[in-house]
Amino acid sequence: MVPPDDAIELKPEKLEEEKEGGPSFPCDFYDANMAYKIGMAFLPGLASACIDNTTGGLFSTPASVAVGIRKEMVGYLIQESENFVAESVVLEDGADVQDPYDIISDFVDDFVSSKRNFFSGVYGWLLSERREDRIDDLVQEMEINSFWLLNRRISVAQTLLKNIDFKNIYYCSTNFKSIDDLEKHKSHCGFRTLACTNEGCSSSFSAIQMDSHDSICPFKILPCEQNCSGIIIRREMDRHCITICPMKLVKCPFYSVGCQSTIPQCTIDQHRTENLASHLIYILKVLHKEASTEELTERVKELEKLSSLGQLAPARDAKSLTILIKDLEAKIGPLKVVTNVKPSAEAADVIEKKEERTALPTKHVRFEEPPSKEEENINSPSKGSHHEDSCHGKGELVIDRISCGNRTGPSLANKS
Ligand SMILES: [Zn+2]
Ligand SMILES: [Zn+2]
Ligand SMILES: [Zn+2]
Ligand SMILES: [Zn+2]
Repeated sequence: MVPPDDAIELKPEKLEEEKEGGPSFPCDFYDANMAYKIGMAFLPGLASACIDNTTGGLFSTPASVAVGIRKEMVGYLIQESENFVAESVVLEDGADVQDPYDIISDFVDDFVSSKRNFFSGVYGWLLSERREDRIDDLVQEMEINSFWLLNRRISVAQTLLKNIDFKNIYYCSTNFKSIDDLEKHKSHCGFRTLACTNEGCSSSFSAIQMDSHDSICPFKILPCEQNCSGIIIRREMDRHCITICPMKLVKCPFYSVGCQSTIPQCTIDQHRTENLASHLIYILKVLHKEASTEELTERVKELEKLSSLGQLAPARDAKSLTILIKDLEAKIGPLKVVTNVKPSAEAADVIEKKEERTALPTKHVRFEEPPSKEEENINSPSKGSHHEDSCHGKGELVIDRISCGNRTGPSLANKS
């Protein structure tokens, strides 16, 4: 029987080559990642088929039908993949190349639906969570019992891939006339398997996937993302960056008293030294809430006279610096604060201008008569500081650490 002419033309090209070229030696390397991905879809498919095939049944369990259904499934998938090549050749012109994983997933889905029994179609079984759970459990059981080993699944996947990938995107299948030529080719075929060379990594992949693996390999050694001098393996990077990395950003140890700086942790000492004067002011502000910035600046000078600032520099945080300051202040004596003077509008203006120059965050000054309860609380000498209680009363100068700066202007204008 002679087939019609057009049928011969529809045959895949490589069959003709084989006919003409005598013995041929095809490379059978394949895309390792794709075969792995396809192989991983088989167990959930098989488990679904076994569950749906036996649900509601009294005599058989999913495990009892698994061997038979697996055999049927492999036969079905190979059959479908062979048919697919034939269809694809017919549709070749202009047809998009479909992802082989999607194609084979469709085969698996078709097989699973063909195995459903009567009961699996009722009571919303197919969409139920109970079904999902049973499938997950069965997949796990199959894995634990090595029911269908991964390398066997991958070799089925490889066969399917070879059948459906007739454009040889995921499968090499280049033909050679001699075994020598084939061997030469294999040593640089894009689909030859390479093992990752990063210490600790057991991944292998096709040569063409080298770069994409390299970009995600958890064992690759990289320079620190925060630019410290360290080199860290990728999977340790996040932990390094939020723990021991010297470049990790931390709050200034004097944050609680007002320094808002965020600095790499390796520069804390430098920051402490360079900003000692402003850290002193922050602490003095806490100790002498009633004092003006000018007075506090003076106080810093007094402290400096008594002890060089270098002696205060080792204080690591607000607490230890506070203790040092208190010791020194015990020697200097109480801070003299301007009290009982009702400032004129002019004086207020002068103070406001000074405040602008010193540019510290908590610098809002206002005058009130008499002080509100809230301010009395703020000014109460409760924190064991040395400052005198005598400064409360009419017309006193209040450093308002709580109110918003916007209130300063209007409250000055209204009250004075
Ligand atoms: Zn090859
Ligand atoms: Zn790796
Ligand atoms: Zn680092
Ligand atoms: Zn600071």
